[in-house]
Amino acid sequence: MNGFTTQKRSRPYTIDTTLLTHPAQQPSMTDETTIPTVKTDDASIPAMGLGTWQLTDQTAYDAVSAALSVGFRHIDTAQLYDNEWAVGRAIADSDVPREEVFLTTKVDPTLTTREEIESSIQSSLDRLGVDHVDLLLIHWPNPLADLETVMATLSAAEEQGYTRHVGVSNFGVDRLDRARELASVPIVTDQVLFHPFHPQRELLNYCQREGVTLTAYSPLAEGAALSDDLLGNLGQAYDATPAQVALRWATQHENVVAIPKSTSRAHLAENRDSFGFTLSRSDHDHVTRPSLARTARLAVGSRLRDALPG
Ligand code: NAP
Repeated sequence: MNGFTTQKRSRPYTIDTTLLTHPAQQPSMTDETTIPTVKTDDASIPAMGLGTWQLTDQTAYDAVSAALSVGFRHIDTAQLYDNEWAVGRAIADSDVPREEVFLTTKVDPTLTTREEIESSIQSSLDRLGVDHVDLLLIHWPNPLADLETVMATLSAAEEQGYTRHVGVSNFGVDRLDRARELASVPIVTDQVLFHPFHPQRELLNYCQREGVTLTAYSPLAEGAALSDDLLGNLGQAYDATPAQVALRWATQHENVVAIPKSTSRAHLAENRDSFGFTLSRSDHDHVTRPSLARTARLAVGSRLRDALPG
């Protein structure tokens, strides 16, 4: 497989870099809660990353800059987020060496041929300004795409050094299992919706058994966790905010990594500091409240707000 070229492709969109303000001399991190790493046989992934869905241009640049300055070393983007360029620029402008940042992007799931997918990966690297990413995911399963072709192309990207790892997103157990059979490299993660109202028990069990990391997206239920009474009440006992309780709930699961989004430096520091306490077993169990109704309401609401998939 040698379809990848080093040829630069034109960007499908541009942003005016002169509009990007460099981060002001930010105070350096004082309260250093270090974000731990989730290790499996196949990959080591910082247990919390910054999500960037719906953040574009300067907002994306500022969020990534702030996240890196408070100690985040894992950034999640996607071809469909229209922000790879700003994300890459923020990483390049930061004081953090590129090799210390775990950078994920996701392939547009509407691309079905090997050539289209390869070309999109080249374009992502070009926009991000890097020669490889750390993790490359297929963003959603596409019933119109041949999964064998998709997994072969992602595997080839890893084998040729364009990504250190590959994975999938929004795959259920059966599809994840099939993807693992078809890939010639390990599938290191399945990035899925995961929060106290959608605890993904079947998939989590599979991932834990098989040594696959589950990456929890929308771990704050797109903000809905923040106003949840139980999280608020429990948080008081731990001197923690509802957001911290929701995030700690996620990251206390074996093999789970969380990627909350935030544009606020204070929230980013708060999210990082969620590793500073541990929920008791019974409190952890109490937080787990599967609710199809709450999950569906959120999903429908956000998809109507923004036609792009997260
Ligand atoms: P989320 O992380 O669950 O929630 C984000 C919201 O929570 C923002 O409004 C943010 O506001 C707020 N927030 C964050 N930390 C907070 C804190 N400590 N206190 C109070 N509010 C806080 O939502 P999400 O963006 O849907 O999910 C996270 C990431 O997952 C996405 O950005 C994306 O990278 C990924 N994702 C992937 C998929 C997929 O299909 N693979 C789908 C959805 C999402 P502030 O900015 O004010 O902090």
